[in-house]
Amino acid sequence: MSECLFCKIAAGEIPSNKVYEDDICYAFYDIDPKAPVHFLVIPKAHIASVSAVDEENCAVVGHIFQVISQLAKDLNLESYRVVSNIGEQAGQSVFHLHFHVLSGRDMTWPPG
Ligand code: 5GP
Ligand code: ZN
Repeated sequence: MSECLFCKIAAGEIPSNKVYEDDICYAFYDIDPKAPVHFLVIPKAHIASVSAVDEENCAVVGHIFQVISQLAKDLNLESYRVVSNIGEQAGQSVFHLHFHVLSGRDMTWPPG
């Protein structure tokens, strides 16, 4: 069995507050939200980060962005930010590809 936290969440082995699911990806609310709306979208197959996206697996990323676009419409998010941290210095703490979707407050640029 995979020891990866997000593989376990995607497989339903660890409970989460689901936003959306299909054969390719899983979306769920972040346990420690950084905005009034903060959910994560992950591929069901393990990919460590954007660094591990290649010609073979890149279709899942396009699919995830299509899902994000649709979920934003469904949740009436007029303005939102999509973030993926790659590597510890950039703030990555879970090494399974995930896109944060944050909304519902003013945001600063550039991010800290
Ligand atoms: P990262 O720091 O890698 O960019 O993002 C990982 C995110 O996963 C963090 O925002 C953190 O709050 C969230 N997270 C970590 N463990 C869990 C968990 O068990 N359940 C949920 N729903 N979110 C988690
Ligand atoms: Zn994983």
